[in-house]
Amino acid sequence: MENIINWNFDNSYSRLSDAFKEHIKPVAVKNPELVLINESLAKELDLDLTKINKDKLSSLFTGNTLPEGSNTIAQAYAGHQFGHFTMLGDGRAILIGEHITNGNKRFDIQLKGSGKTSFSRNGDGRAALGPMLREYIISEAMHNLNIPSTRGLAVAKTGEKIMRDTLLEGAILTRVALSHIRVGTFQYIAARDKKDELELLLDYVISRHYPKLVNSKNKAIDLLIDLMNKQTDLVVNWMRVGFIHGVMNTDNMSISGETIDYGPCAFMDTYDPKTVFSSIDHMGRYAYCNQPIITKWNLSRFAECLIPMIDENQKKAIEIATEIINTFEKNYEEKWLEMMRKKLGLLGNHSTDKTLILDLLTWMHQKKVDYTNTFCHLMKFKVQEEDFQDRVFKDWKKRWNERLIINNSSNEKSIALMRTVNPLVIPRNDKVEETLDLAIKNDFKMLFEFLEILKTPYIEKKNTYKYQIPNENNKEYKTFCGT
Ligand code: AMP
Ligand code: MG
Repeated sequence: MENIINWNFDNSYSRLSDAFKEHIKPVAVKNPELVLINESLAKELDLDLTKINKDKLSSLFTGNTLPEGSNTIAQAYAGHQFGHFTMLGDGRAILIGEHITNGNKRFDIQLKGSGKTSFSRNGDGRAALGPMLREYIISEAMHNLNIPSTRGLAVAKTGEKIMRDTLLEGAILTRVALSHIRVGTFQYIAARDKKDELELLLDYVISRHYPKLVNSKNKAIDLLIDLMNKQTDLVVNWMRVGFIHGVMNTDNMSISGETIDYGPCAFMDTYDPKTVFSSIDHMGRYAYCNQPIITKWNLSRFAECLIPMIDENQKKAIEIATEIINTFEKNYEEKWLEMMRKKLGLLGNHSTDKTLILDLLTWMHQKKVDYTNTFCHLMKFKVQEEDFQDRVFKDWKKRWNERLIINNSSNEKSIALMRTVNPLVIPRNDKVEETLDLAIKNDFKMLFEFLEILKTPYIEKKNTYKYQIPNENNKEYKTFCGT
């Protein structure tokens, strides 16, 4: 172990019962080479990387050198994958430790693609460069869109080839998260049928993520309510920017409320509620419009884990949990409406708001118009002007203008509100692919330019326009469970 970076580790999760994890070291890699480092995130973590040479960083961010104070583990979890219950766990990720910032914030530092663990099943424990850079790009975009997300601190090549459809360059992503505890973690412990372990996990999660609930009379009930609120906010945010996660399995739903596990995710261009990008999602289970429904479904699986801790009387516990879960739709609808009102700059509530919003979405769907750029047009940015000459749209705009008058406020105020929630740029599929194609050929120029643009998605910059227009081919876009 070496003390290269000023990590400040306190590994609370690894002190929990052995039921929760496997102690294991990353498998050494042949020829580590750092390709990307997130300087602004390092700063937020109070890490000083400036005086460290590239070789040392490469060795560190591939797990070849383990930092002092680390305690490496693979976490155990289960999950409903496309509706089917499976025992999983970190099959290719290792938690290095929990880093505490100067401001006393705790973050998991995890290496993804770090080699086999006892949870690897048939996998090789490795990851390819393209998908790790993709996770880095999209999670940074999400963070800068003001959406809670895990983030990438570094991407490093392993110097080893890995076998997928073809031979690909291996890489490791250093992922930073509030924690990697998932709904699936609760499912794993609940399946062991040991109430003391479940209570340990509940107490741990509350002290780490929901400290306000420490003195709650019924922690399980209050955690269910709070997680439901967090996840509802999260999915409303996804809907706001047209993000489609792609694999909303319960093992990919974080207890901290962050977006986690960027596999076949992608952003919608043309508005179509049924949009699915993932090549393996044949039934459209995780389509754009299904995301709130699946959020509720996943929360129901979470509630099931909590039953023994909600009430000793199982029937009563189920009634209480069901009642909470059944508030999801109303809660979601209210939050979604509030978000859509902001997208249109509407202040206050008006009884016709929902119809106004739905009529715009219906028009976008029927005319196959770009979701992001419609709001850009309404904010008076010139993008794809030809799409907005349509009669139906012009009539709608008249109604919208009439509604803006009821705001009883200035137009500038409305536009200012809209500009806080309507991005000018999202990581469009063709641009992500083009960036990755170049990067895997060792050309990182576009990657750096793209990351710079994605840093300020609500602000117009010199190169913004280049990233605003969707490519026609995006309509056929498919994503693969990028591993
Ligand atoms: P994901 O689809 O990334 O959420 O992963 C689902 C499960 O498969 C998790 O338990 C992963 O750790 C595991 N997994 C994914 N890819 C690999 C791989 N190449 N080797 C081992 N396990 C993997
Ligand atoms: Mg996962």
